[in-house]
Amino acid sequence: MERTVAWNTYNKTDLRKLEAVAKEYRAFLDAGKTERECVVGAIERAKAAGYRDLKDVIKENGKLKAGDRVYADCMGKAIMLFIVGKQPMEKGFNIIGAHIDSPRMDLKQNPLYEDSGLAYLDTHYYGGIKKYQWVTIPLALHGVVAKKDGTLVSVVIGEDENDPVVGISDLLIHLSADQLQKKAAVAIEGEDLNVIIGGMPLKDEEKEPVKANMLKLLKEKYGIEEEDFLSAEIEVVPAGKSRELGLDRSMIIGYGHDDRVCAFAQIKAMLDVKTTPEATCCCILADKEEIGSVGATGMHARYFENTVAEIMNLTGEYTELKLRRALTNAHMLSCDVSAGFDPNFAGVFEKKNSAFLGKGVCFNKYTGARGKSGSNDANAEYMAKLRKWMDDAKVRYQTAELGKVDAGGGGTIAYICAEYGMEVIDSGVAVLSMHAPWEIISKADLYEAFKAYRAFLVKAE
Ligand code: MN
Ligand code: MN
Repeated sequence: MERTVAWNTYNKTDLRKLEAVAKEYRAFLDAGKTERECVVGAIERAKAAGYRDLKDVIKENGKLKAGDRVYADCMGKAIMLFIVGKQPMEKGFNIIGAHIDSPRMDLKQNPLYEDSGLAYLDTHYYGGIKKYQWVTIPLALHGVVAKKDGTLVSVVIGEDENDPVVGISDLLIHLSADQLQKKAAVAIEGEDLNVIIGGMPLKDEEKEPVKANMLKLLKEKYGIEEEDFLSAEIEVVPAGKSRELGLDRSMIIGYGHDDRVCAFAQIKAMLDVKTTPEATCCCILADKEEIGSVGATGMHARYFENTVAEIMNLTGEYTELKLRRALTNAHMLSCDVSAGFDPNFAGVFEKKNSAFLGKGVCFNKYTGARGKSGSNDANAEYMAKLRKWMDDAKVRYQTAELGKVDAGGGGTIAYICAEYGMEVIDSGVAVLSMHAPWEIISKADLYEAFKAYRAFLVKAE
């Protein structure tokens, strides 16, 4: 059973629309290299489309009615958008959910030190990374410093073309005889991910003069002291913008496609619903997926359920039982990236159940490891409905597993939402070099994901 190459189905109008979506996505991706920056980007877009802050509606003792649009920010790191539908939420609603955190290195709480005339920031990596990929490339610092006086200072260093960048050194090949015999997992170790940030001493300073110079610069530019690192969240990410990849410009290489490509396609789909839908639409952009969906902003936290309760309260529908029914009767697409088939590493894939770049949005009935362990194994009946919705909307889609049986494994937020008893399946964009500093996707798959999510929001009832 072969799936269609999406590119072969496009006319000139389709290609124009596809390029417009890709361009908009690249702007979103370049401006959103942390979960916090993605939330800012989502709020900007939502506000421009007439969404109101749920907190304001609650504060004003307001009401919500069919057609109203609200967003709910969760600690600046996760966010939900809602369009209130015509039918009661008790009958169910349509959810699309992605995550906006990506693998990276976080600064430790006491990160700054000087060694042999260079100043360094010590890091602790976040999510699954191949550590050897993160050395010898230009890196940028993105994040916030929370000060004792209650102010929050935003930091971005390394993105403007006039900015300096930071980076991690690797051992020169000439002295690498021992290193090259090591397993790739330990060739560069986690504790070795130390970021060089400076090399010029502060004049007349005797003790750690390079570190002192860094502190002087940080004080001048951001008004922060060394102790302020204790309450900072600064992420070290690849510096620079996404680029079109391929002589035909058919792909995009960029940092954080996992899972900002699905997050963007979701936002775009929500904002493209211009009328009042039958069922309420909900878009979740969650944090902490890469470390197990834990913490107050991860999918395991209760903010999703609590926010649905708030929405039902504002429409006058809330009871505990109706909330339970709404969650159980919901339909969801858990939108996360899929492993793209890579001919360079064909041995870990089973070709007829693999996702190919350019064959459209990918549905994963299950992920997990070994005997589907830890997986949300979606229902056949639900997959049948999706086939109809996708075909009716002329969405190009494919299905896949995460590689060969027993080759490895992975998970998403699908199984967490499935705990409510709702129908949920994984769907997303195929990625090459997943979790590498620079990942690759096809523009066609991004475009089909947007079309799929749009179709799902207004068709699934
Ligand atoms: Mn993901
Ligand atoms: Mn991931």
